[in-house]
Amino acid sequence: MATATQSLDQDTFEALGAELGYDVKVVSPEDEDRELLESFDIDLEAEELEDLENMAPRPPVVTVMGHVDHGKTKLLDAIRHTDVVDTEFGGITQHIGAYQVKVDHEGRKRPITFIDTPGHEAFTAMRARGAQVTDIAILVVAADDGVMPQTVEAINHAQAADVPIVVAVNKIDKDGANPDKIRSQLTEYGLVAEEYGGDVMFVDISAKQRKGIHELLEAVLLTADAALTLEANPTTDARGVAIEANLDKGRGAVATMLVQRGTLRVGDSLVVGSSHGRVRAMFDDTGKDVSEAGPSTPVAVLGLTSVPRAGDSFLVAPDDRTARQIADKREAAERQALLAKRRKRVSLEDFDKVLAEGEVDTLNLVIKGDVSGAVEALEDSLLRIDVGDEVALRIIHRGVGAITQNDVNLATVDNAVIIGFNVRPAERVAELADAEGVEIKYYNVIYSAIDDIEAALKGMLKPVYEEVALGSAEIRQVFRSGKFGNIAGSIVRSGTIRRGAKARLVRDGVVVADNLEIASLRREKDDVTEVREGYECGITLGYKDIAEGDVIETWEMREKARD
Ligand code: GDP
Repeated sequence: MATATQSLDQDTFEALGAELGYDVKVVSPEDEDRELLESFDIDLEAEELEDLENMAPRPPVVTVMGHVDHGKTKLLDAIRHTDVVDTEFGGITQHIGAYQVKVDHEGRKRPITFIDTPGHEAFTAMRARGAQVTDIAILVVAADDGVMPQTVEAINHAQAADVPIVVAVNKIDKDGANPDKIRSQLTEYGLVAEEYGGDVMFVDISAKQRKGIHELLEAVLLTADAALTLEANPTTDARGVAIEANLDKGRGAVATMLVQRGTLRVGDSLVVGSSHGRVRAMFDDTGKDVSEAGPSTPVAVLGLTSVPRAGDSFLVAPDDRTARQIADKREAAERQALLAKRRKRVSLEDFDKVLAEGEVDTLNLVIKGDVSGAVEALEDSLLRIDVGDEVALRIIHRGVGAITQNDVNLATVDNAVIIGFNVRPAERVAELADAEGVEIKYYNVIYSAIDDIEAALKGMLKPVYEEVALGSAEIRQVFRSGKFGNIAGSIVRSGTIRRGAKARLVRDGVVVADNLEIASLRREKDDVTEVREGYECGITLGYKDIAEGDVIETWEMREKARD
């Protein structure tokens, strides 16, 4: 049995379809989107064929990857400074998520585009959406440290994406730097240096002293020329990928687009994932206004009505109305997909079992962050936390910008915790959350958020309880009372005795009755809720066989923190 709102897997659907005489075809989200666009007379396949006749070379797009602290940020900095000839703009660069430099190569100036959000998360999150933006990966390995776990991870990501690698052996200025060791270490991962008879270019650099940077850039161009045909049709409507987006107080949604085909122009109607709008203005990584951007060019775009996600693909629509309709349809599809994802942990195979045992427990989250890349990365990592089947994690909503009333409302309905990554609540929202009992947690480091949530999930795995003694009393005299049963005239020997507390009766060091409760508690003639050490009181336990000299012990079960 499955309920009408339950998600089923593909095999079940196919079996069910066959049974009912239908041929069930499962389409990928990409296919579905393609059909959506076709219904608006946008035929991507036909466009690709048309492109073939108008191809022109385009610059390579490069991502820098490598282990933490091996110098990715420093290298991106150094590369950017090789090209600060544009001093007419004051040399002020803006972080828009990508930049372009021009390299003197064999007498020509050739541009290279760099994605400057280092790290594998961005790379993987984009790829998970089917957005392949990177042509070449620079793998940074510190010569004084060698191959580390994230170095291997980076190699795996690049190889899975079929992206050629150029190795930058960094920090060669340091004592103890051993560039040759790096070369031999990396042969184990299939990266064989040219000087060892392989086809991977290794370049020794010092990002700090800005040495070897030009050679590295040349190696990128040589690798691109040897391994790839980088072409695109610049003479048509633009398509590409959003690589970063955020909400700017003054300017609204600002999204950096990497154009992959065609030319993007101010005034174009645009659909980006489920966002839409019209290009009001564009600027490049030097902050300069630009009116058009061709293939492999990153530009920050103003004019979208909402903030897209990193990795969302964009396309230019014939008019604003079409753009809005496509965006709306996509949003509806996304909502559906999210609903299905919500139930991800409970599959048909174990649904009844888990339900019967009452073992399902869910931690619901709302994630808000300052840039979509971070939100993506966080969501991605969180969904990968593995704490077994007893606990599920559900991300019921995520987005870019301050924590709003709407977020709190959602959290209230679904009993969720709100995670704010580099964002704060909007005005009066913190009070609202407080009033509704919604917890908001703030982070500025992804890993601490992940650690906390992992701990929370582990805490939810069958809590461990321990007994904690609350107080004890000695019976001095027994009063018989028809109405209340026997009353123990007692003196509290330690702690406090509380009405309602669990109790046991101990006689000469032996427990004579367990599972009792302090049924009533009196001081003189008054009912009281608790009596402290040293005071006398009357206690009834709802248990008859009590005697002078017996000790009443009370305790409660408390949840124990997990190690
Ligand atoms: P990331 O985590 O890979 O982005 O690494 P960073 O670029 O932040 O660099 C980590 C540390 O290594 C910083 O303290 C840098 O100053 C230092 N560093 C980076 N490149 C070099 C280099 O070529 N030589 C030396 N000596 N230090 C470097």
